[in-house]
Amino acid sequence: MKITRVVVHRLSVPLPRPVRTARHDHAHADTVVVEMRTDQGLVGSGYCFAFGAHRARALAALVEDLVPLWEGRDPAAARAHFAAAWRAINFVGHAGVAMMALAALDTACWDLAARAAGLPLVRYLGGERTRVPTYASAGLWLDYTLDELLAEAARFRAQGHRAMKLRIGRPRPAEDVERVRRVREALGPDVGLLVDVNQGWDEATAIRVGRELEAFDLYWLEEPLPYQDLEGCARVAAALTVPVATGETDYGSQAIRRHLELRAADVLMPDLQRMGGVSGFLDAATLCRAWHQPVSSHLFTEASCHLLAAVENGLILEHMPWWEALYTEPLTVADGHVLVPDRPGLGVDLAPAALARFRV
Ligand SMILES: [Mg+2]
Repeated sequence: MKITRVVVHRLSVPLPRPVRTARHDHAHADTVVVEMRTDQGLVGSGYCFAFGAHRARALAALVEDLVPLWEGRDPAAARAHFAAAWRAINFVGHAGVAMMALAALDTACWDLAARAAGLPLVRYLGGERTRVPTYASAGLWLDYTLDELLAEAARFRAQGHRAMKLRIGRPRPAEDVERVRRVREALGPDVGLLVDVNQGWDEATAIRVGRELEAFDLYWLEEPLPYQDLEGCARVAAALTVPVATGETDYGSQAIRRHLELRAADVLMPDLQRMGGVSGFLDAATLCRAWHQPVSSHLFTEASCHLLAAVENGLILEHMPWWEALYTEPLTVADGHVLVPDRPGLGVDLAPAALARFRV
């Protein structure tokens, strides 16, 4: 089997509501979708995205630049194509748009390889889990009123979620503590509650407010500090009993290794596109296992559910349905789990009408 053609789609996918965190304010996910086609009629897909149409144009340019490394090749050699692309981007760097572009192509290639084998990606990778614990992430934003927070928390529960993530990092930390308290009271003790600071604190604030938040039985405290302050994050993690999660903003599995070496956090959450796709994510998960640490995910729910189901140390999946509309059917959430699609490859198919609707 040969990859005969790679089609690149540039899309603007509207978010259900503008996203506001301590770091973000966006209304669209400017997305680059890769459709990888073969001489046998199979199609694999992957995507990367940025916030900002011009940045997405830069992403698409990098994807187009790398396409020749896959065209004419056998999709089963996904690791070899990843290695070739890794060498190709050496000069521009193993971070930023180059890694994100590599991720879309690498993911599409793994999707194809598993489709060619007739196996869901989780089983192609040697795993057997059919569902993974998940948490609702598309909501509980920083700019919500208290009433909006409580209404959305109830909605997430009704959708089958048993864990959810609240964004914190408001100008007055006392407001964060109060919002966490009210949401925890409304949820009761049996629902997992995660909080995400989106790098909004300094070390002293993280330790002080983190200690106050320990009263609310949090599942984890995410990205308390600027993402490159690994030593500071390690001190925060050591000072608190609540588990600290980080890693989503860093690039490449070697960055995950540095987090592990410094014991920067209790849970690493590599981002599929910043790892360079399935190949790099699997490397990151293996490193986490070598350090006896669990691994979570960041965005990219369609591929990440297979990866967390496949690795032994997969902990919990971020459920972010922003790209759901690109596919013919959504992932199923039931009783706090995402059901890993039991169809070949990623088990999700792009919807041509959606590609047409969101095209820019
Ligand atoms: Mg986060």
